[in-house]
Amino acid sequence: MQLATPWGSSMPTLLLRKAALCGLFFCLAPNANAAWFNDTRAIMGTEVSVSLWSDTEGTGKQAVEGVMAIMEGVNRRLSPYIASSDLAKLNSEAAKVPVLLTDELDLLYRQSLWMFHQSEGAFDITYASVGRLYDYRQKVAPTQKELEAHLGALSTRHLVYDAKARSLAFSQPDVSIDLGGIAKGYAVDLAINYLKGLGIKHAYVGAGGDSRILGDRRGRPWVIGIKNPRMKEGGADTVIKLPLSDVAVSTSGDYERFFIDDSGERIHHIINPKTGKSASEVMSVTILGEEGIATDPLSTAVFVLGVQKGINLVDKLSGFDAIIIDSTGQVHYSNGLMPPSP
Ligand code: AMP
Ligand code: MG
Repeated sequence: MQLATPWGSSMPTLLLRKAALCGLFFCLAPNANAAWFNDTRAIMGTEVSVSLWSDTEGTGKQAVEGVMAIMEGVNRRLSPYIASSDLAKLNSEAAKVPVLLTDELDLLYRQSLWMFHQSEGAFDITYASVGRLYDYRQKVAPTQKELEAHLGALSTRHLVYDAKARSLAFSQPDVSIDLGGIAKGYAVDLAINYLKGLGIKHAYVGAGGDSRILGDRRGRPWVIGIKNPRMKEGGADTVIKLPLSDVAVSTSGDYERFFIDDSGERIHHIINPKTGKSASEVMSVTILGEEGIATDPLSTAVFVLGVQKGINLVDKLSGFDAIIIDSTGQVHYSNGLMPPSP
């Protein structure tokens, strides 16, 4: 696969800005126990990683455990597969009676609705009305007939929200919600806010394609890699490296959960709500912004929208940047990442 050179000889302005924020000096540890604390665990159906600097071993270990507990909690409350989760209860009740939302579900619903409107429906949490017919591990995709039978239930417009009561009802029986396009970004925000509360100044928290970094890496930037969406055995797994600090980074890729069907088509987990099928214009979208609760759904939305409409959306919203690898391997940048004109 041919990938365009990321940005020729000059680094994009935003990256330079962020790299400059990283500062130039190493701080000497005031305490002999100061160290990096790292861990990686399988949570939320993905790999959760944390790396943080703490002055004491006690706080370092507590902070790592605390982050993992936050991730476990989000999974328990928001997984559609755990029958006792708040989301599963909403899905099973809301077509019968309005369901009172927890603060968390209320926040995620309103953020999802905002992204639905911004993306003109490309991000739609009711994608699950059709999305649940796919099983990527078992290589199962709905037939055209099954798609047509369920596509009518796929629309955020079937969600009846009562702002005063903070309740949600489904106007059709077949509607289903999944927060897989926003929950991981939200979870890394929760983790970073928790670490800030503990006084941690340097940390990385990642959950699958969604990560957020706090501060720098003690005098150096964190380096976040964008994966090669079509990595060959023995080939480079990172095609672009971003030196960053204090930023949320979300990548949506068609290589995360997929199978190749009998006709050779890649069937993956990002669904175009208009068709109920996998979006196919691009292979990967990376969004940079302040918070995961926004970069996560925006990366999914831009993936569905494709290069032109996706870049237009990112350029329209302030505070975000995008790196898109299209289906031919060509790399595209939003305005904020374009090299400055000579
Ligand atoms: P991400 O990896 O953040 O791009 O999110 C992909 C996940 O978002 C999928 O695994 C689904 O759970 C969910 N999803 C897929 N298509 C959509 C869509 N059109 N709108 C909202 N969520 C989606
Ligand atoms: Mg996303």
